Amino acid sequence: MAEQFPESEEFVRLRETILSCQRCSLRQSAHGVVFGEGDSRNPQLVFIGEGPGAEEDRLLRPFVGPAGQLLDKMLHAAGFERFHGVYILNVVKCRPPHNRTPTVDERRACWPHLTSQLRYLSPRIVVLLGATAVQTLLGISSLSAARGRWHERGGVFFLATYHPAALLRNPAWKTEAWADMKMVVDKYREYVNPHHDSPFYPLADERSDEPG
Ligand code: SF4
Repeated sequence: MAEQFPESEEFVRLRETILSCQRCSLRQSAHGVVFGEGDSRNPQLVFIGEGPGAEEDRLLRPFVGPAGQLLDKMLHAAGFERFHGVYILNVVKCRPPHNRTPTVDERRACWPHLTSQLRYLSPRIVVLLGATAVQTLLGISSLSAARGRWHERGGVFFLATYHPAALLRNPAWKTEAWADMKMVVDKYREYVNPHHDSPFYPLADERSDEPG
């Protein structure tokens, strides 16, 4: 069940604008617009995927199908929760038919919504889930070319990693995805909260206390 926090008038207006959008043809086949969800009170960490899938389109919430459940598990392992200091978005807000990749024109149509959301949320760290988010936000053509290092844009740190749906198809990639998530934890400790607790990636001084 989604936790709800009071949202500012500006954020409510932004939500209303996006929910009423008909700017591209994706809206015609989708059940509705998936705005995104999380903690809008100054989240320092934002995750961006490609677009809603079937379950997301049905419930009008992001990352709630099997891939979303995996994302929640990864967040939890790293000490994050989607409704506490985290926000989850997609590049396009309406489901592409048959889960196809959104076209460049569709991404372009939805781009003002994404930039408005990011401007409002103003995160310090943005995690890009999959190639579509990487191409759209960083202008880098492939995930492999972007993974493994931070990309700073205007004081915001972007990290590219696998989309959880890809991890479900290729479980062997989970090791690399966890390495990426540890980079996120490190950056979060560096810029947001030096005491951030992660159940599976404790602080260095706690790690050194562990029995050998
Ligand atoms: S995908 Fe984005 S631009 Fe297209 S109709 Fe939905 S909200 Fe509007």
